[in-house]
Amino acid sequence: MPVYEYRCKNCNYVFEVMHGIDEPSPNCPNCGSKKVTKIITMVSFKVDHGQALSRIEKRFKDYVRYGKYKDAAKFAEKAAQYVKHDKIKEMAEEGKKRLLKKRK
Ligand SMILES: [Zn+2]
Repeated sequence: MPVYEYRCKNCNYVFEVMHGIDEPSPNCPNCGSKKVTKIITMVSFKVDHGQALSRIEKRFKDYVRYGKYKDAAKFAEKAAQYVKHDKIKEMAEEGKKRLLKKRK
């Protein structure tokens, strides 16, 4: 299961939660607010580019598989800023295309 990082809009508390990609956002463990936003973290991807690529690819595919094209596009775009690799650029393009297709 993937680990997600959230920030609470109410108290700014940042926390990590492990849950399925199609599960709803959890409540803030600090104040109990439901107003939490998912943060796309890239810190761990900076460490090892070889490993980062496969991890990014896996997460991207997870988003696509569950029809989260907006997240997929956003994620790939952000990833492309951190890891310079043609494959990630392709993913960003693919994400955008899928998102456009869905909007039609
Ligand atoms: Zn909070």
